[in-house]
Parts: sequence; C-alpha cells; structure tokens
Amino acid sequence: MPEVPCLFCRIVARESPAEIEYEDDLAVAFKDIYPKAPTHLLIVPRRHVESVAMLRDEDLGLVGHCFMVAKRLGERKGLAERGYRVNANCGPEGGQVVYHLHFHFLAGRRGG
Ligand code: AMP
Ligand code: ZN
Repeated sequence: MPEVPCLFCRIVARESPAEIEYEDDLAVAFKDIYPKAPTHLLIVPRRHVESVAMLRDEDLGLVGHCFMVAKRLGERKGLAERGYRVNANCGPEGGQVVYHLHFHFLAGRRGG
C-alpha cells in the first residue's frame, strides 16, 4: 500500500494512533496530543484539504459539517451552556503547523 504522507490523513485512515472521540462519514474528532485547554479536540475532515486558504466553493458543506460536529461535541460533553471555542489556524502567520484542515475545539478554560 502506498505511504500516505499527511499526519492527519494517516490518523483518519487509522494508520497513526489517536484518541478518536467522534467520527462520521465526513469528519473525525480526536484529542490534541498537546492540549492547550482541559478539553482540546481537533475536528478533521476525512478529505485532505490543506487549509482554509485552499477551500473551494464546493467545500462549503464540509466546513458547515465540521461546525455541526463541534455543536454535537459540545452537547455530548455538557458544554453547550458553559461554552467552548472553535477555531482554525491558517498559514504560517496564522500559526498553522499541520497542513490538513482542522478546527480546534477548546473548552474548560475562560478564553481571552
Ligand atoms: P495547528 O497549529 O492549527 O496546525 O494545530 C496542529 C495541532 O495538531 C497542534 O495543536 C498539535 O498539538 C496537534 N497535533 C500534532 N500532532 C498530533 C497528533 N499526532 N495527534 C494529535 N494531535 C496532534
Ligand atoms: Zn491530509
């Protein structure tokens, strides 16, 4: 089988380990390996898109879906009332390190 170079593609394909908390046809959510908040998950579309900057018009549904996954995670974890943060870093000055689109889901600490 050919090697898949992207780390998050490998996690999605279950070729690299991750603590997966949610998955469906379009997206996977797993624990960030270096959590920056008591709850820190990454919501990752299964399909490889490099970044927000590389989104195409036809990716609209995929992005919307990732936000609905965030909503579901918030409900499942009882965080809907207290709240959480959903954000994407894009490009070098946006702090993006892994170039497979992902949304950080952060909770348990008051955001600045
Ligand atoms: P970003 O800066 O938005 O590209 O965020 C990438 C995130 O991926 C960082 O918060 C890292 O801690 C996280 N990360 C890197 N490698 C792994 C991994 N193998 N499993 C889970 N999270 C990872
Ligand atoms: Zn990828």
